[in-house]
Amino acid sequence: MAQARLSIDLDALCANWQALAAQSTAEAAAVVKADAYGLGVDRVAPALARHGARHFFVALAEEGAQLRRILGDGPEIHVFGGHMAGDAGLIRDAALVPMLNSLDQMLRHAEALPGAPFGIQLDSGMNRLGMEPAEWAALREVALPLGPRLIMSHLACADEPRHPMNAQQLRAFAEMTQGVDAPRSLAATGGILLGPDYHFELTRPGIGLYGGLPFVDALPVVTLDIPVIQVRDVAPGETVGYGNTWTASRPSRIATISGGYADGIHRIMGPQASVRAGETPCPVVGRVSMDLIGIDVTDVPEEPDTVELLGLHQSVDTLAGWAGTIGYEILTSLGRRYDRQYIGG
Ligand SMILES: *Cc1c(COP(=O)(O)O)cnc(C)c1O
Repeated sequence: MAQARLSIDLDALCANWQALAAQSTAEAAAVVKADAYGLGVDRVAPALARHGARHFFVALAEEGAQLRRILGDGPEIHVFGGHMAGDAGLIRDAALVPMLNSLDQMLRHAEALPGAPFGIQLDSGMNRLGMEPAEWAALREVALPLGPRLIMSHLACADEPRHPMNAQQLRAFAEMTQGVDAPRSLAATGGILLGPDYHFELTRPGIGLYGGLPFVDALPVVTLDIPVIQVRDVAPGETVGYGNTWTASRPSRIATISGGYADGIHRIMGPQASVRAGETPCPVVGRVSMDLIGIDVTDVPEEPDTVELLGLHQSVDTLAGWAGTIGYEILTSLGRRYDRQYIGG
């Protein structure tokens, strides 16, 4: 079988959620947007719900509707994107809580679904989503009596604990929500690690659940094992792969493994990347192609049937370093061609 195996450890994922929930002085939600960061919301969300998560966040109303079908009635499902034109049916039928981002969204929601639940997203400085201080100042006397379920904002630099932006946004959010009765939420994974000042009544961890930085204590959640299709001897001076970018400098054993950029193994990481055969690192040689990668197994004592790209030795952040990106993008790029196996949950 040439299909690579992606194992997703739901027990580790739930343990990561519980660890972040225990660090929160507030209740912890779970962020499961983008198909639970690419790991499969249909498996991830029910496991988290069984472990006690009662609040979930997604990016789009469509994701919220899918999540409602998965979770059934009960858990609160918040939508970061708010109430967009055409969303009213989804929001009503799936009992979603749109985080209203502007006066326009507020009017749209009040008109289409009067009395329906909603939350409010404030912009405390990131300039991405949410009402600006002046807009909120004008709206709050109208909005607060309607009983928002949650008032939230998002930190731009929470993965850098010493960044002055954190305290600045905390101050802005505290000012904007002074005297508010509704529960408040500011912290994602990074914000939880900044400490209790940032926790308010609800925290919103995402990446930490899935084993990524900045949650350094996260248990690894994903393992990716890739089968070796063929092994060959390559003499000094011979080349491997498209463009002849790698030339053997010694008599080499080169294995061709069954994964490539179509599986989310970014082509750009080629020259820095390696895989593991047991404990032995095997450098990638030549270009990453769509379905295949060459690796150097000369130093491996016993020729492997499969090699590990993600697992105990190398995390999503290791790969992110090779690709010049972040663990979030490695996770959400993981391909659809893998044999996905879930452990526990
Ligand atoms: C994605 C997201 C989160 C989760 O962030 P992590 O860094 O993955 O923990 C929380 N809040 C908002 C608004 C987000 O967009």
